[in-house]
Amino acid sequence: MPRLSVLSGPSGVGKGTVVAKVRSLYPHIWVSVSCTTRAPRPGETDGVEYRFVSRDRFRELAERGQLLEHAEYAGNLYGTPRGPVEEQLAHGDPALLEIELQGARQVRAAMPEAFLVFLAPPSWPELERRLTGRGTEAPAQLAARLERAKVELAAEHEFDAVIVNDDVERAAAELVDLIEAQCR
Ligand code: 5GP
Repeated sequence: MPRLSVLSGPSGVGKGTVVAKVRSLYPHIWVSVSCTTRAPRPGETDGVEYRFVSRDRFRELAERGQLLEHAEYAGNLYGTPRGPVEEQLAHGDPALLEIELQGARQVRAAMPEAFLVFLAPPSWPELERRLTGRGTEAPAQLAARLERAKVELAAEHEFDAVIVNDDVERAAAELVDLIEAQCR
């Protein structure tokens, strides 16, 4: 049975961009679509980057055990729908999640065989620059993300592999190589 692969790492490191590259260049790699209670950013489409749901709906999904993992992040809830991931693995196909650290730890606890990959920034100043430069966050939310990113950087040693995101295409290719090596 193929292993579930998880890409995690601090906010702003470019997990979303690397996974978008995987989606466009390696469409045979199935990527889970998370549920979130945060509002869509400009350019985001419901069902593509996320399924955008209300807090009530999110709580209902969590209470019914329909989320493989879930976490609160900078005031919003995020979770991985369980069914599609289990179906994918049952078919013998690899699956990829892109989630923050608390979720990655929940996956580790629930599925010890999962393969956890940490996406690291080239340096802390570079990460700070990326987090500040996005310009889509209110100041309080940005401060929360910076604080959290510092704590998350220290978690690198909990992971099975580390990819440095100095070049998005190279990082995506490295991730796909690692995922495919798990299936051999
Ligand atoms: P953003 O709001 O910038 O899209 O995502 C914020 C954080 O939530 C990112 O670190 C992203 O990886 C994480 N995230 C996205 N989906 C999930 C999920 O389903 N579960 C968890 N635990 N984190 C998620």
